[in-house]
Amino acid sequence: MNCLTAPVVVVAGSLHYDIMVDAPDRPRKGETVAGLAWRPKFGGKGGNQAVAAAAAGATVRMWGAVGDDDFGRFLKGCLAAAKVDGGWVTVHPDQGSGMSVAVADSDGDYGAVIVSGANLHPDPASLADAALWQGAVALILQNEIPEDANVAAARTARSRGAFVVLNAAPFRPMSEAMAPLVDLLIVNAIEAEQGGGGAVETLHDAAAAAQRLARRFPRVVVTAGEQGVAGVERGSAPTTLPALPVPLVSTHGAGDTFVGALVAALARGTAFSNALDAANRAAAAHVSRPVSAALGDDVS
Ligand code: ADP
Repeated sequence: MNCLTAPVVVVAGSLHYDIMVDAPDRPRKGETVAGLAWRPKFGGKGGNQAVAAAAAGATVRMWGAVGDDDFGRFLKGCLAAAKVDGGWVTVHPDQGSGMSVAVADSDGDYGAVIVSGANLHPDPASLADAALWQGAVALILQNEIPEDANVAAARTARSRGAFVVLNAAPFRPMSEAMAPLVDLLIVNAIEAEQGGGGAVETLHDAAAAAQRLARRFPRVVVTAGEQGVAGVERGSAPTTLPALPVPLVSTHGAGDTFVGALVAALARGTAFSNALDAANRAAAAHVSRPVSAALGDDVS
């Protein structure tokens, strides 16, 4: 890489067409509620992290799948608008695009339904395309596509010399095949506890969880919402950074912005603690911005 070339990051993961509904109340069983407004939104942890990495200066290529439908065309259009190369997002002939419906009530509480659809059927053969990996420094994975697809992508990334980042969200037990392929594990407070790091309420807890998880992974980051973030490189003391004091608008998608910004910085060769700082700043800026109608946050 030279100073004129942005580092290449590959994201393998999910794309969701999110429908956000505002209503006075969330419907109870059997009830129909008159809503106030709705808007579509680009989502899926994979898509959000790809967009965040591109916004943080990386050249991003995305591997995934959508359906042959208007939602899929919208999602690919959003990737293009964010300067993410969606050339490896295949169009599944029989599965609908991933989507979600979230109903937010007047208190801001929400309930959501997610349909994964085509996200469960990415095309493993397209991982073999050398153009996907040309110059790639890092691969980002999440847990919204099948584990065997993640393992296949991680193996290919490793064979091409790229490091592998797993944002283990939502939590699921990690396969024995996956664990040794992960160079950097990123989890939030809930996922850290689910993964055996112990309860995380404070930044101190986050650092302890990261150290515990670093017995299995060379680098671990535990994000702790408004507390901040802790990161550990195995064998070194943890880095802890308090969250920046910003006016809060919405925390939806904070983690995705954090992951994209962190990996973009690491891929540029930024030192771990400085990359954590950059990601902490990007996520703070994100939570103080309203969700945009199209390119926005994930509800999952
Ligand atoms: P997730 O969205 O995956 O649950 P977190 O809630 O842990 O992730 O948030 C990720 C990161 O976003 C935090 O580590 C922090 O950097 C930033 N962040 C979250 N909430 C706030 C907040 N209220 N103020 C400032 N930064 C925040």
